[in-house]
Amino acid sequence: MSDPQSHPARALPSELDVVVVGAGFAGMYMLHRLRGLGLSAVVFEAGADVGGTWYWNRYPGARCDVESMQYSYSFSPELQQEWRWSERFAAQPEILRYAGHVADRLDLRRDIRLATRVTEARFDAASRTWLVRTDRGEAVRARFCIMATGCLSAARMPDIAGLESFRGATYHTGHWPHAGVDFTGQRVGVVGTGSSAIQAIPVIARQATQLTVFQRTPNFSIPSRNGPLDRDYEQWWKSDYPAHRARARGMRTGILYDANGAAEARDISALAVDEAEREREYAQRWARGGTAFMAAFNDLITDQRANDTAADFVRARIREIVRDQAVAERLLPHDHPIGTKRICVDTDYYATFNRPNVALVDIRQDPIQAITPAGLRTGTAEFAFDSLVFATGFDAMTGALLKMGIAGRGGQTLRAKWEAGPRTYLGLMTAGFPNLFMVTGPGSPSVLSNMMVSIEQHVDWIADCLAALRARGQDCIEPTAAAEEGWVAHVNTVAHGTLYPAAASWYMGANIPGKVRVFMPYIGGVGAYRQICDEVAAKGYEGMRLSSAGATAEAAD
Ligand code: FAD
Ligand code: NAP
Repeated sequence: MSDPQSHPARALPSELDVVVVGAGFAGMYMLHRLRGLGLSAVVFEAGADVGGTWYWNRYPGARCDVESMQYSYSFSPELQQEWRWSERFAAQPEILRYAGHVADRLDLRRDIRLATRVTEARFDAASRTWLVRTDRGEAVRARFCIMATGCLSAARMPDIAGLESFRGATYHTGHWPHAGVDFTGQRVGVVGTGSSAIQAIPVIARQATQLTVFQRTPNFSIPSRNGPLDRDYEQWWKSDYPAHRARARGMRTGILYDANGAAEARDISALAVDEAEREREYAQRWARGGTAFMAAFNDLITDQRANDTAADFVRARIREIVRDQAVAERLLPHDHPIGTKRICVDTDYYATFNRPNVALVDIRQDPIQAITPAGLRTGTAEFAFDSLVFATGFDAMTGALLKMGIAGRGGQTLRAKWEAGPRTYLGLMTAGFPNLFMVTGPGSPSVLSNMMVSIEQHVDWIADCLAALRARGQDCIEPTAAAEEGWVAHVNTVAHGTLYPAAASWYMGANIPGKVRVFMPYIGGVGAYRQICDEVAAKGYEGMRLSSAGATAEAAD
């Protein structure tokens, strides 16, 4: 990857067709599509390089849990043929290199302004433009504003008393130092046991003298069985990438599980087979590794009894792996159905608790009282640390959007509009905010899917929409309140037909004190969702109001 500084961005014009916020995979592909349409565009990115998630999350062990052959762009046949992944699940440095390679190959950097945070975006009804301001004091007007700000980009430090007083080093997994951290010889505390912690803990445990894990909620984790990418498997993908990708796009999660025939998504109830067959199925998926475990049966996220069979299987594995049964019991997840919090994928997570230098503290039983200058205090014990790692997650889906001052028609702020929870039409737009698009916004499948599939689908839809507007001689699009109402209700109905709302998850906003609890992503599946979006477009953007400076045309609600 080339040095970002060696590709200085062009001077910023005061008026543009499009402003894009964020240069992760979403913003980068968006820029590429906008260029293809001949539109002028600039991308503002808070980080000092492209890559988004993979720029910020450099904690030890960080890697994808969607196989690399699928966690990659599909839009360019050359790109997907020429890039070679080294592992089944690529690690963060490799994914970041890939992002940099794409930026260089498509010459994206000249229109990306790095280390620049958008602070405000206001719609001006008179000129029908967005006025976007940055923390560098820049201001630019654009007809369209596209938020590619990421669902998991607003890292969240917990409000624990005394945090500032700690004399050692403090880290958040989502803002990891670029130089890396060597924990050799250190006493380390890790707060959190979500996906990030579950990846980081085994690696930190191998370096640290002593590692103490503070667990509030045990999570279900499936072994990744990661390893060097099998070259026959790579060849299988590359031999017909377009057809395989097309199949993946039709799946509920946008992931092809049966690529090697071992773990297809089975369209059969867990309760329709006998116990021996269920165990065989789970065991085979456990042995193969990865999130395909949850595709063993078609009712694992809709039927509690079916779900229990999968949860029991994983709990039995935890008891087998962890030698000290008191520790194993503490690691057993009981407070949510398996899969209703994002399922974790690990390398040696549970086995790490067999190490003599690793301890597990159940902070639900014995809550953290305060961070102290020397370390941390719970109700019953004092701990001394050299470093504290917070793997405490993100203000997901809405955090990055609401951090900016976004104001639509009549000065209404997005924060005010979403006070009772995010409201969107298709997760792409929100009523009262004309020409403002979101990539993988709340109300779309986003975080419940292979994000690369969802990102490409949204970017393509938005680009096609801008092209359609231009072809019709129109320059303004906004969902109607009625269409939005209908979509919000649909998203809710589908969510409540599943077990998901039973978990106090970040999908529900439950990890942020005071955040409204609504199920934010759309759980209808990426295949079905794509069809809905395509139909909306085919019907002349049904549910949207399209207009030009002169006249207004409303598509049917
Ligand atoms: P991001 O990559 O989050 O990029 C958004 C960018 O917007 C960021 O760089 C941010 O700095 C910038 N930004 C935000 N606000 C502003 C602002 N106001 N001004 C300027 N810039 C701003 N998904 C999967 O499908 N599979 C995986 O295996 C997977 N693993 C993950 C592992 C981790 C550790 C995390 C945190 C997430 C993971 N995800 C995974 C989800 C991941 O976020 C997406 O896959 C994908 O990278 C999102 O790309 P994006 O461009 O939409 O958002
Ligand atoms: P997370 O899933 O939200 O986990 C945060 C952890 O911190 C939870 O265990 C949480 O406990 C705990 N926590 C939060 N606030 C706390 C507090 N005040 N005191 C004590 N504990 C607290 O965050 P994450 O692990 O960063 O993962 C976020 C998402 O990013 C994942 O769900 C996934 O989508 C993505 N991700 C993917 C991968 C991958 O495998 N590819 C890796 C990392 C992240 P509670 O559960 O009790 O709230």
